[in-house]
Amino acid sequence: MRLVILGAGESGVGTALLGKKEGYEVFVSDFGSISEKYQKILNEEKIEWEQQQHTESKILNADVVVKSPGIPDKAPIVKKLHEKGIKVISEIEFVYQFAKNTSIAITGSNGKTTTTMLTYHLLKQEGLNVGLAGNIGESYAKQVAIDPEKLFVLELSSFQLDGNIDYNPHIAIITNISPDHLDRYEYKYENYIASKFRITMNQTEEDYLIYDADDEAINNWLKNNQTKAQLVPFSLTKKFEKGAYLEDNNIIAMINNEKITVPVAEIAIEGKHNVKNAMAATLVAQMMRVRKQTIRESLSNFQNAEHRLEKVAKINKVQYINDSKATNVNATYFALESMNTPTVWIVGGVDKGNDYDELMTFVHEKVKAIICLGIDNTKIINAFSPIVDLIVEASSMEEAVKLASKASEEGDTVLLSPACASFDLFTSYEDRGTQFKNEVQKL
Ligand code: ADP
Repeated sequence: MRLVILGAGESGVGTALLGKKEGYEVFVSDFGSISEKYQKILNEEKIEWEQQQHTESKILNADVVVKSPGIPDKAPIVKKLHEKGIKVISEIEFVYQFAKNTSIAITGSNGKTTTTMLTYHLLKQEGLNVGLAGNIGESYAKQVAIDPEKLFVLELSSFQLDGNIDYNPHIAIITNISPDHLDRYEYKYENYIASKFRITMNQTEEDYLIYDADDEAINNWLKNNQTKAQLVPFSLTKKFEKGAYLEDNNIIAMINNEKITVPVAEIAIEGKHNVKNAMAATLVAQMMRVRKQTIRESLSNFQNAEHRLEKVAKINKVQYINDSKATNVNATYFALESMNTPTVWIVGGVDKGNDYDELMTFVHEKVKAIICLGIDNTKIINAFSPIVDLIVEASSMEEAVKLASKASEEGDTVLLSPACASFDLFTSYEDRGTQFKNEVQKL
């Protein structure tokens, strides 16, 4: 069997290693350049590869092609593969057949990484043989090659789900759905929603779909479409016999008549959105029979990944918070909602067709000054100048942090939550968040 891998990043190289171990004839092709680290691994494993080109004679003779999620379907080589009827699948689709244990898959527009890491943490603290993969960390393929017995918690983007054919997670989570990446979905929101729900398409009556029952897009899909999975909702406003909800500032989670109560105040990560993420992770832990005590302890000692409502420092009694990962309006909505002091808000970047209306109430209540940090800030200025007196523009992080420090006083919070992508002034959201932290330390 000939396995061709398009794209030699972490997941492509991992897939090559697993493919070789399973007896495939493997060829790796990348239209860009392959990093030296990965070239070395491929050479060591005697796996044939090429870069800066796609040699058709070596690709169109594949039995199966694993494509990096970053390569769109409209790329010429992918079109040719489709025309020839060659199977083009995702890493997950290729790898799951070699995994010996069930898996937990997590998708959504926001909260994927937090919920995935939290779920992993809860299971790990219980002592289960668990792995973390998908969009995070080391590739799923490589980890399965090393230990196929692990129970994997996978973070899946909609692009990864687009390559899903037979993969069937035992437990699936959809954290929420709001418009994002529409450029990849013919600018049709319904296509993006359908892509997220591919996570449940192969689930059976024995499987579970955990979802946000406060989410309009999710509720509409469930009203108009079928899944065989058992539905397990969570909500901040509704109550369920099977699912998770709030009561007197406690999370109550109920599965198979097993009930656990966790005070919201004990959860290490703050904000209502994180209450939801905690609900989803707790439901998984219950399904996997993690003890109540472990669940409560793990929720209270969890450390989230960087750049997500990350407390950086308190300087002159002003709290600085890095939420650089907030690259869309919905993520910023929850950041602003969780503010409980007057806030100086650093916002802006590459606008993805943002509609700022839903932020107005919070901005009106909490934001005393706005620092715009983007090349074109017109939309932000037009949207908020009627309700915020002080709006200034900055063209670097250094300038933004200095302006924010000037605009703030004792008891305030300075929040970087851009609601935009970072590519105008920064190389990535990580770069943006790191620069923010460095500048804050210099104050
Ligand atoms: P993802 O991996 O889906 O991008 P992250 O966990 O990295 O999600 O969080 C991305 C951003 O969204 C952060 O700014 C975070 O504060 C915010 N966020 C996290 N969870 C949620 C949620 N359930 N709903 C809305 N926003 C969220």
